[in-house]
Amino acid sequence: MTTDGLPDLRREPHPNPTPDAELERILANPVFGTVFTDHMFSLTWTEGRGWHSATLKPYGPLTLSPAAAVLHYAQEIFEGLKAYRHDDGSIGLFRAEANAHRLNISATRMAMPHLPETWFLESIRELIGVDGRWVPDQDEATLYLRPYMIASEAFLGVRPAKEYQYLLIASPAAAYFKGGPKPLTLWVSEEYNRAGPGGTGAAKAGGNYAASLLPQSEAIDHGCDQVIFLDAVEYKYVDELGGMNLFFAYENERVLYTPELGTILPGITRDAILTLAMEAGWEVRETKYSIERWRDDAASGLLTEAFACGTAAVITPVGTVKSRDGDFSISGGEAGKFTMQLRQTLLDIQYGRAEDTHGWVTKVA
Ligand SMILES: *Cc1c(COP(=O)(O)O)cnc(C)c1O
Repeated sequence: MTTDGLPDLRREPHPNPTPDAELERILANPVFGTVFTDHMFSLTWTEGRGWHSATLKPYGPLTLSPAAAVLHYAQEIFEGLKAYRHDDGSIGLFRAEANAHRLNISATRMAMPHLPETWFLESIRELIGVDGRWVPDQDEATLYLRPYMIASEAFLGVRPAKEYQYLLIASPAAAYFKGGPKPLTLWVSEEYNRAGPGGTGAAKAGGNYAASLLPQSEAIDHGCDQVIFLDAVEYKYVDELGGMNLFFAYENERVLYTPELGTILPGITRDAILTLAMEAGWEVRETKYSIERWRDDAASGLLTEAFACGTAAVITPVGTVKSRDGDFSISGGEAGKFTMQLRQTLLDIQYGRAEDTHGWVTKVA
């Protein structure tokens, strides 16, 4: 299989792209995940043939058999990344190669075919090539990119499918928090887990999210924003939130803790934070971190800050943790200084305002 250029690439431009005036109205206040750009990208994989039929076409419904395997057994994986408008008008991606690579790690776990990583990036270039004007320019606004892969074979038997679609859609997103991030209130789930050893926790799979919805509703019922999942063996160590990784900062020792990889999703934001914290002179420890320790060290003041991170919300302070055993706050429930500094450093790199010393930014327009 050649990986030179997208296979059989066909471009079908939208006959009536969104007029400028309407686009301006949409981009003034986009509601996350509700509006999509004029185009989408697709590639098909068929057993014996591999990837073929790359198509850039108008955004619209898919044609799928009601027997498509994804609809029954959830053979689906996805990625999430953003296109950032830089001050000079150009468009950059942040660590997109890492997303391309992680898609394939998820694919391995879900018995799906690998997508050549250069094609992942090419698909984004194709979509930005026609829909680049959908990348907003307000502070902290982005065009959210959603690449994903589904088992499209019409077959009700249980085995890996023989046909897949790789798809890419994009949705403009306003700043996640208007007027700066508001510290999160989190609920500790003591009844449900997100992932166990040997499970699919490290794969970015839609099924993991389906399983997180009930515990997430429980968190909302307790007046919280998000749920904290503990490890599935001892119900003792902190894993992560439904879609964000966690960090614990000890200012006096200048040590930053984060749960070790294994059952958690290996976040690209998490990885970038580990690098940036080390560069800021902090020691980083990827290790088991118990909920008891979190409670005790928050009470004693040894733990000075805690925050959650992910592509969507960047870095968000954690203010309060609630559980059946009672509540506790970190740094008086306020956003911490180190958290906000890291957040600014990361945003400055993503928006091209700081020098890209790590080679994390790829210009796509
Ligand atoms: C995507 C995701 C994250 C964050 O990963 P980033 O690469 O930083 O966006 C964290 N946890 C889960 C469960 C996720 O799906």
